[in-house]
Amino acid sequence: MIYALVGAEKSIRNVMGNNNMTETNKDLRPKVGVGVYLVNDNNELLLSFRSSAHAAGFWCAPGGHMEYGETFLEAGARETKEEVGIDVSGVDIVGVISNVYPEENKHYVTIHMKAKKYSGEAKLMEPDKFSDMKWFPLASLPENIFPATKSFLSENPLCLCGSGKKFRECHGK
Ligand SMILES: [Zn+2]
Repeated sequence: MIYALVGAEKSIRNVMGNNNMTETNKDLRPKVGVGVYLVNDNNELLLSFRSSAHAAGFWCAPGGHMEYGETFLEAGARETKEEVGIDVSGVDIVGVISNVYPEENKHYVTIHMKAKKYSGEAKLMEPDKFSDMKWFPLASLPENIFPATKSFLSENPLCLCGSGKKFRECHGK
């Protein structure tokens, strides 16, 4: 499993620079995100293009906030169904990543999962939030990929194709 801390130094400086430390610290407490990687038989990864709200302009795997009482699978399956209409019935946790977005005062701990079993046809379910959706070959993922996924891949995890090789030695560059 991959653990990474990104942007922490910057965020600590932000917090230290604020006089109202206690309230600021509480407000800035990290939220838990989930992301689900769907890989098809051609070793392509499903990504949607975010056109509004947080991280507009990035290609993103299905995901979002974990809600009260959910398991990782339940949270990931719900978000995947909501965003791309696919039913996920099993996941492997492939990484846990901490990302700080100082300009938005946001800090997320994201549980990265790969769908072990899924069914259904991918379609764009939330056209108000996403303007496009594509299966990208793992060997040619877009540059403007969602920051949490970029962090995850930069740690050179086991490749999402399931070869057992590291990402960069397998499909990544
Ligand atoms: Zn691979």
